[in-house]
Formats: sequence, C-alpha cells, structure tokens
Amino acid sequence: MTVVQKNQVLEGEVMDLTHEGHGVIKVNAYPIFVPHALIGERIQYKIIKVKKNFAIGKLIEIYKESDAREVPPCEYYDKCGGCQLQHLNYTAQLEMKRNQVVNLFHRKGKMSHVPIQNTVGMENPWFYRNKSQIPVGGQTDYVEMGYYRQRSHDIINMDKCLIQYEAHNEIMNAVRRLLNHYHITPYDERQQLGLVRHVVLRKGFYTNEIMVVFVLNGTSLPHQKEIIQNLTDAFPQIKSIKININQSNSNVIMGKQSKTVYGNSTIKDIQGDLTFKINDQSFYQINVPQTKKLYDIAVREAGLTGNEVVLDAYCGIGTIALAMAPNAQHVYGVEVVFEAIENAKTNAELNGLHNTTFVAGAAEEVILEWQKQGIQPDVVTVDPPRKGCDSIFIETLKQLQPQKIVYVSCNPSTQLRDVQLLLERYELVNVTPVDMFPHTTHVETVALLKRKDI
Ligand code: SAH
Repeated sequence: MTVVQKNQVLEGEVMDLTHEGHGVIKVNAYPIFVPHALIGERIQYKIIKVKKNFAIGKLIEIYKESDAREVPPCEYYDKCGGCQLQHLNYTAQLEMKRNQVVNLFHRKGKMSHVPIQNTVGMENPWFYRNKSQIPVGGQTDYVEMGYYRQRSHDIINMDKCLIQYEAHNEIMNAVRRLLNHYHITPYDERQQLGLVRHVVLRKGFYTNEIMVVFVLNGTSLPHQKEIIQNLTDAFPQIKSIKININQSNSNVIMGKQSKTVYGNSTIKDIQGDLTFKINDQSFYQINVPQTKKLYDIAVREAGLTGNEVVLDAYCGIGTIALAMAPNAQHVYGVEVVFEAIENAKTNAELNGLHNTTFVAGAAEEVILEWQKQGIQPDVVTVDPPRKGCDSIFIETLKQLQPQKIVYVSCNPSTQLRDVQLLLERYELVNVTPVDMFPHTTHVETVALLKRKDI
C-alpha cells in the first residue's frame, strides 16, 4: 500500500522546487510533485499518479500564496509546453536556477567550497527567441500553427508567443493566413500525409534580417511565387526564404536538404564587435543579449594575454572561438556539423580573424589528430550539447593538460559529471549561471577549471 492513493485530495505545504519547477510536498518523506505550486505555499491538491518512489499531484487551490507568485501574462500558459515558470517572478526564477546549480555542485558533487555566482539575468526577459520552430497542423482544410501542449504533439493554435520575437508572431500569423488562403495542407504526423510540417523563423537581433524556412513533406510549395511576393511585401526585412525537405517519419524538425527560393542562403547578425552569417541548419544561440554576457564571462575566465593557443570544441559557427581570437595567438575550432564549420570559416574571414583554424568532425576524434600534430593548447573552451563531452575527449584533455578549461554548458548535470572526471588534475574555480531561456527551466553555466599545479 502506497502512502497516498490516486484521486485522493490532500492539503500540504510546498517545501522545495524540482529542477522542472514543480513544487515538492512530502508525506512521511514520500515526495509528491505538484506542477505550478511554489515554495512556502499551502495548497489543496489531488493525486493524479502514484509511483513507487513518488506521486504527481494537481494543484486545486492555493490557501496561502507565495510572494514570488506572478500572474502569468501568456493566455496559453496553462496548456502550452513551451514555458514552465511564468507563475514565478523573474527574480525568483534566477534564484531557483542558481539553487539548482548549487544543489548539483555543492551537494551532489560535494564541492561546497566552489563559488556559484548569482544567475546573470535579462533586463527585459520577454520576446527574446531569435529562432522559432513553429509546428504546423490542424485539419486537411484548415491550418493551425502554434506550440505543443505539455507532453503532447497537439498544437495550440496561437497568435502570440511571449518569448519569441514580435516579428515572428506577425510572420506566423501571416503564414497561417496564406496557407489557409491557398488551401495548402498541413502535415499529419499520424497518417504521414499533408505537406507543411514546420515553419522555422530566424532573425538577426541587430540586423533585423529574417529567414523563413518552410519544412515540407515534399519538394515544393504550391503558390510559392504568390506566397513569397505577399510575405516580402508585408515584411521587407525577410532576406531569405527556403524550402527544407523532410519526408522522414520522425520527430526531427528539419531534413538535410534545403533550397533557397528567395534572397540569400544566409542571414547576418552581429554579436559584440563580430558579424556572423547564419544558415537554416547551423546552431546559433537563441538569446543574443544574454549570449553576449555569456561569452564575455567565458572570455574573462579564459584570461587571455595574446600568447595563448586556444582550442574551442563544439564550436558551432565559431562564435566563442572568434570572441577569443583577438586576444589569442591562435584558435582551433572543431564542430561536427560541416555547414557550421563552413560558416565559421566565412565568419573568421568576415571579421578579419586570420589566426583561426576550423575543422569539421567529432571533437573526440579531431582532438586526437591535433594531439598527434603536437598542438599544445593553453586554454580549452568547450560548449557541448546536453549530453556533455565524450569520455574519450575528456581523457585526451587530461593528457593535453591545458592550463585552463572554460566549460560552457546547457546542462549542468552532465557538466558536473565531466568536471568530476577532470578533478584529479584540475580544480573547479568558479561557476556562473546565465539565464539564456527566461520562463523555462533551462539554465546555462560557465565553469572555470585550472590545472592544479599552476
Ligand atoms: N559554441 C557554439 C555551439 C554550441 S552548441 C555556440 O555557442 O554557438 C553545441 C554544438 O556542438 C552544436 O553546434 C553541435 O552541432 C556540436 N556537436 C555535437 N556533438 C559534437 C561532437 N561530437 N563533436 C563536435 N561537435 C559536436
């Protein structure tokens, strides 16, 4: 017999928040997770799921409200899976993200001596996403566009998302009108029928240049000419329109093949003093003002004097590498996406940074090549995807023994795992959380490691 039963209605006080932003209530040490409940709140809740080690509750009523509670400004917030923290005020969100990092590094990693800085927040934490991947669905004769309901692929037909750029909201609404006007079918995942799967929008923060990508279960868009005309008349900032072909039966948003049907194949953006070219496939940080802060921290932690050899692993289109290059002797970048490396080379040219070398390949393989060539890095920066660094990469790093490692991460739990693998040679000196995704539970961190003997 479990501590609680399904459908039971209970009262309790919220003790903690999980990293998913769910309130935690304990009944005889057995945890119950209640989405949308906040620390210190007294609530009534209903048990909706019972597992061996935990249960899930649904918030019914709040008897005592937290001072940190906010009325979510988005009308879709209760349903939409995009944001998780709009009911928590922004200052408290930043504290929560820091606590998450403290719990990981101080408690789980037992490194309580390591300073965890305050989370670097955003001045105006709305309308910040420069890339929107908007699902397209609905009926065969009616197109709906918007983000998915929590834990589902049901589209909420919406006219506004408060965390994507306003221009993206306007273009989303215009595209939906056009698709409906020309009776173009949305893709139906279940039956694998219909044409338009996603509309992907990217916009340069400083340049305002916009790219629109129609992701199709097919090779061409009916009424393409009229649609292009209409969109570019209404939005002259659109500098590139592409068709991406994705005929696979999978959750992957974009297919490998894209063709430009209007304007340029890339758009430009500016970060700090650097100009970047971005195409439809390459990784580019979502939140530009926060990325500037993130890279400034990474550059500061690297503490370059102009003489250092730097390796930038998982370099994407070269953003961190190029931020380091003006203060380094040479920077080597490696990234697995070939097109991103092509962009990185162009970006180095564009910015006159000739002390850079970019190689396409897996970081764990290319670093071995560099080791064979006798390249001896003084500083290594890494910015891997959520799963963290490959263990071969970490092993090679230990052999190369750079003086400093600046580890940028979008997933502090894999970062902790990797840092622990380095601890015999390196000391973790500092961790700074940066809020790249306000109102969501994601947290980005910059960790500085120094070799123990220096
Ligand atoms: N530093 C960049 C990109 C970070 S995102 C920036 O800030 O813009 C992580 C990047 O790692 C992605 O571009 C992804 O394509 C790349 N990647 C994933 N696995 C990799 C691997 N095994 N080797 C090299 N790069 C990899």
